[in-house]
Parts: sequence; structure tokens; C-alpha cells
Amino acid sequence: MKNIKPIYSINFDKIARNPKNIIYLIYHYTGMKSENNAIKRLSNKNSKVSCHYFIKKSGIIINMVPDKYIAWHAGISCWRKHRNLNDKSVGIEIQNAGHSNHYPQFSKKQIKSLLYLTKILKKKYNIKTKNFLGHSDIAPERKKDPGEKFPWKYLSKYKIGIWYNLPKKTSKLRNIEVSNNEIKLFYFYLKKIGYCLQKKQSKYLKSIIKAFQRRYRSKIINGKIDKECLEIAKNLVKCGLN
Ligand SMILES: [Zn+2]
Repeated sequence: MKNIKPIYSINFDKIARNPKNIIYLIYHYTGMKSENNAIKRLSNKNSKVSCHYFIKKSGIIINMVPDKYIAWHAGISCWRKHRNLNDKSVGIEIQNAGHSNHYPQFSKKQIKSLLYLTKILKKKYNIKTKNFLGHSDIAPERKKDPGEKFPWKYLSKYKIGIWYNLPKKTSKLRNIEVSNNEIKLFYFYLKKIGYCLQKKQSKYLKSIIKAFQRRYRSKIINGKIDKECLEIAKNLVKCGLN
């Protein structure tokens, strides 16, 4: 790949994997103010974390772990029937100071590089549209990244991640309460999409609702199911999962 320079990390499993095992692409932000410190952390052996690619604010792409090795980016995670997604995924870190540092916008150059790199990986490993995920999708209790400013809708135009297609504006459904049956239906849809609902505690369920909102209904991220969330989830299951 052109325009991609290496700064290698030693934090990865030293046994090569079969490229057929790569079925997911997971997006992250670094959550650190300093880009240089983020790169240092992702390559320092004591941190035990890494990623395959790092996208700098300038748009420069760094390769930190070759795709054929398992990088340590996802941690304890779950999607559909899969647990701990490191072995099945490529991880991309995008420099962004994150929610604890006023969560700035991603730069235009970062988004451009992100699209460029993702298109290459999608083609190379034949990654399905529905298998482009955020860290918060697969680890909702622990993670908020890449967050609500990540351009999911834009990327979906390139079959990178699913999106909904509703005929009318859904904002008038915002904050409208749902019935108990509709709540059940919402969780049924979330499960279909891929969210792991293995725990029933309200705190856990709230974190999943927030992950869903961060990605598909970023105007209000409150962890409460409303009619708008329900309609979006229903549409994603109907139209988005093909
Ligand atoms: Zn992450």
C-alpha cells in the first residue's frame, strides 16, 4: 500500500493468522491529547495495546502491526456469537483526544485517509458491510470510541458499515416513550444487528442503548429507548443487514 509508513509495535501475537479469519474491521480513537504519546503507548511493550493502523491528524497512515498478526486493540469484546474480536479483526486507531478531552472533530484529512485505507482492506479481505464496527459497539460498558462524531453515515455510502433508510424525518419521534412490548422489540432488533445482550442488568443494557445512539442517533445519547431509536433499529434490521 502506498502512502503508508511503518512504525512497528511489538504488542501482537507472534503466530501468523489465516487471512480468512479477518472478518471485522474495528474503529477506535486514541483518547489521548498527544499524538506522539499515543503512538508511543501503542508500541510500548508495557502498555500491552496496539493496532494495525494509526491515522494521524495530518492524514498520514502508520502501519503498526502487519495484518497477518493479531494486534491487541479490542480487549474484552463481543459481537454476535463472537467473543474477543482481536483474532478476527483489523483495528484502526484514529488520533482524537476523546470524550475526556472535549472530544474534537476528526480532521478532513483523517476521514479521507480512513476511507482510502478502509476501501483497500474491505476489498482485500472481502469484509461485509455489516462487519465494520466501532469499539463501543463491541465493548459498550468500557468504551465510547470512535464516538458520535465518527462519520458512519458518510462511510455507509461506500458499503462501510450499515445505515438506515427511512422515508420521513424521524426527529419528531424523538423522546416519545415506547411501550413494554416495543422495548422488547427494540432489544430483539439490537440482537439481530449484532449487539451482545448476554447480561440483563439495566446498567449494561443502558450502555448498549448508548452505543446504538452514538452510532445511529447521535443527537441525543441518553441511554433511553424512544420511538425514534425503535424506528431506526427496525429499519436497520429490515434494510441494512443484507
Ligand atoms: Zn478503542
